[in-house]
Amino acid sequence: MSDEQELGITESKEYNTGEWYAEVVQKAGLANYGPEGMSGFIVTRPRAYALWESIQNYLDGLFKDTGVQNAYFPLFIPESYLEREKEIVEGFDPEVAWVTHAGRDELEERLAVRPTSESIIAPYMAQWVRSHRDLPLRVNQWASVVRWEATETKPFFRTKEFLWQEGHTAHATHDDAWDETMTRLKQYESVYEDLLAIPVLRGAKPEHDKFPGAHTTTTVEALMPDGKSVQAGTSHHLGTSFAEAFDLTYTTEAEDEEPAHTTSWGLSWRSLGALIMTHSDDQGLVLPPTVAPEQVVIVPIWQADTQEKVLEYAEEIEAELEEAGVRVELDDRDERNPGFKFNEWELKGVPVRFEIGPNEVDDGVVTAVHRPDGEQVELDRENIAEAVVEQFDEVYAKLYAAAEENLKENVREASSRNEILGTIGQHGGYVKAPWCGKESCEEEIKEQIAAEIVMVPLDDEESEIHDGEACAVCGEPAEETAYFAKSY
Ligand SMILES: [Zn+2]
Repeated sequence: MSDEQELGITESKEYNTGEWYAEVVQKAGLANYGPEGMSGFIVTRPRAYALWESIQNYLDGLFKDTGVQNAYFPLFIPESYLEREKEIVEGFDPEVAWVTHAGRDELEERLAVRPTSESIIAPYMAQWVRSHRDLPLRVNQWASVVRWEATETKPFFRTKEFLWQEGHTAHATHDDAWDETMTRLKQYESVYEDLLAIPVLRGAKPEHDKFPGAHTTTTVEALMPDGKSVQAGTSHHLGTSFAEAFDLTYTTEAEDEEPAHTTSWGLSWRSLGALIMTHSDDQGLVLPPTVAPEQVVIVPIWQADTQEKVLEYAEEIEAELEEAGVRVELDDRDERNPGFKFNEWELKGVPVRFEIGPNEVDDGVVTAVHRPDGEQVELDRENIAEAVVEQFDEVYAKLYAAAEENLKENVREASSRNEILGTIGQHGGYVKAPWCGKESCEEEIKEQIAAEIVMVPLDDEESEIHDGEACAVCGEPAEETAYFAKSY
C-alpha cells in the first residue's frame, strides 16, 4: 500500500457515517481505543486534547466573567451520600462503577466513582452557605465522570469515562435559579454557534426525561449530518429537592430558615464529537479556524534552483503571522512532495493552506486555499496577517452556513403518528408534532423507529400549540410541541 492510500479516508461520510467517523478519528490522530478488556474507554491524543482545551478556555472565560469559580471534589462518592437523593440513585444506579476494596481489605462502605457530583458537592455547599449574604454560590469543576453503559464505543460520543465540566450553584429564589439555568444554556449555545460553527436548537427535556430530581432540564441540541440529534449540553434547574436532601439552607433577612434553589449544568467532550462529525468530509478532518491547532499551513513549492528564494519568502511570512498571533506551520520537509503534504494537512483539518512557489515570490502574493471547499484566493504579501484573518472569517462562515442549511432543511412538521414515523424514517432530522405530554405516546414512536422526543420548547418561549389541536400519536388534546428525532 502506498503512503497516499494509508493516509487517506476510505469510508464515505454519506453512506457509511459510523465507519467514516471512526476512520477520521483514527487517521487524523485524535484518539485510540482503550486496552483490551476495557471497551468503552479511549485514549485522547494531543490533537484532540488541544481541541478540548480550546473549548475549555472559551467556556471557562465565559464562566469566570459571570461569577463562577473553579473547585475540585473527590472522584469517589460514599454510597450513603448518593442515597440521600432518592432519584439520583434510581437514575444512575445501573451505570455506577463501585469501589469495594482498598488493597486486600474490603471497605466498610462502598464508594461510587462519580457519575455526576451533585451528591458530594451539595453537602459542602451546605456548609459554606449560612445566610442570604452567601448567595448566590457558584462552583464549577473540570473533571471526568464514569457511566458504565453497555453500548458500542463511539469516541467522544459514547464512552464509559468522559471529560466534562459540571457547574453547581445555589440561589435564594426560584427565579434566580432559573436565570442561572438560562445563562449557562446560552453560554453552551455560544460554544456551538460562536466557536464550533454549529447552529443549535434550544429547548427543555420532556418531564419524564429530566435529570433525576430536577425541576426543569434544558438542553441545546445539534443536528448531525446523518440526521441524528446530539444532546450538546444540558442545564438543570434543580428546584429545592437537592437542597432539602442535603440541608442546603440559608437564613433570610427576616431570619427564617429556607432551602436554597440549586442548579447544575454540564458540557462534555461530546462537543468534540459534534465538531468532528459536522464539518469533516471524505478527505478527513475539517476544523473551524477558531479551534484549529494550526490555522494556516504554508506549503512551499520549489525546484532545486528556486528552493532558496521560495523558502526565504515562506519563512518571512511564517514569522510575520506568528508575530500577529496566528497559529501557523511551515511544512518545509524535503522528503515529501507538495501533493503528499496537501493531502496530509487536509486530513488533519487545517482550515487554510498557503501555497508558495516561485511565481508567488516574483508577484509578491500568496495563494490561499480554503480547506472546506478548495476555493483559491490570491492574497497580497503586504498586510498578509490582516488578510489571513479575513480568510478565517470566510471559512468559519462557510462552515456555519453549511451546518445551518442542514438544520433548516431538516426540521419538518407532522400531525399524525404515521407522518412522524414516515418523515423520520425517510429523512431523519427533527419532526415537530403536537403532543399530549404522555410518555406512552413517545414510547410508541420509540418502539417503531427508535426516535424519541429530544426537546419541547421552553416555557418562556412561544408555544406553537393552538386550541383544539390534538396529539399526533393518541388524538388527546395537545399540550406542547414535541421535537422527535433519533439521537446519539
Ligand atoms: Zn398523546
